[in-house]
Amino acid sequence: MTIRLPAELVAAGLAPPEKLADLARVAQRYAVALTPEIAALIDRADPHDPIARQFVPDIAELTTTPDERADPIGDDAHAPVAGIVHRYPDRVLLKLVNVCAVYCRFCFRREMVGPGRQMLSAGQLDAALAYVRAHPEIWEVILTGGDPLVLSARRLGAVIERIAAIDHVKIIRLHTRLPVVAPDKVTPALLRALKARHKTTYVALHANHPHELTPQVRAACARIVDAGIPMVSQTVLLRGVNDDADTLTQLMRAFVECRVKPYYLHHADLAPGTAHFRTTIDEGQALMRALRGRVSGLAQPTYVLDIPGGYGKVPVGPGYIDMCGDAGARVEDINGVKREYP
Ligand code: SF4
Repeated sequence: MTIRLPAELVAAGLAPPEKLADLARVAQRYAVALTPEIAALIDRADPHDPIARQFVPDIAELTTTPDERADPIGDDAHAPVAGIVHRYPDRVLLKLVNVCAVYCRFCFRREMVGPGRQMLSAGQLDAALAYVRAHPEIWEVILTGGDPLVLSARRLGAVIERIAAIDHVKIIRLHTRLPVVAPDKVTPALLRALKARHKTTYVALHANHPHELTPQVRAACARIVDAGIPMVSQTVLLRGVNDDADTLTQLMRAFVECRVKPYYLHHADLAPGTAHFRTTIDEGQALMRALRGRVSGLAQPTYVLDIPGGYGKVPVGPGYIDMCGDAGARVEDINGVKREYP
């Protein structure tokens, strides 16, 4: 059973009884859910367990800093109709559902997601698809939320069929945590639903720590890739979870071993009550330099920041080249030594 209540967290040994009142205050404000698979991954004896830190509520979530905001990446500034975010010309987000199988304590949409929140109504979905149909520049539709894979295979398949029927849409991408937090839900019916005739489906898997890629999760990824669906990864850089080079190295290698191409390492957004998770950009760049020196190019994600206010995502990784005008350039090697380029 999914753990949703503070008392269940205590009963499962995931929090001490004296924290019950604090947990209840946080749970009133932000949704809580841990699947059995995630609860089983947590080492109860480790006060710094990286999985617990991602999913067990913390009283620090009730401290909101002045820079934090309910809509940290500015979705609302680019929402022409309900459910659609059209920030870049060639692609849209389609936010089908506002529920997830788990609730991550650092979630950038934490003000919008939670149990009981509605999926798009039939009329809203019609209007969202009509918008996509009316904009021939839209090449890619990205299903996100919430987690679109919490929908039944039948409902999800019906939506994907409708998107696939739009001629100019060539790519359908789904962002999900489900294969990590409930790998048994990656069933043949779900895989059939994901595949759209004459279109390409990508699955972007959200995972933040190598402990999440259990044998069951690796098998779920293999089922997806074996079904002909390429996978990419997304990871949020999180203090106390993965803000060290060894952990990121293991995580990126594990993705590649699973045939999941590392794609994004997100700088943590300014979501309310998440300051305890955020690193500095300097720290993120130093980690990317460390990765560059130690892992294959296949295992390199792009370190990105969503500019607050809705101005989009930009790479913020370290630079390796100084242009010197007519004198050429100085390029830094993986050991930090500057080399001349004529
Ligand atoms: S699965 Fe994604 S949308 Fe859902 S709580 Fe976690 S980060 Fe937020």
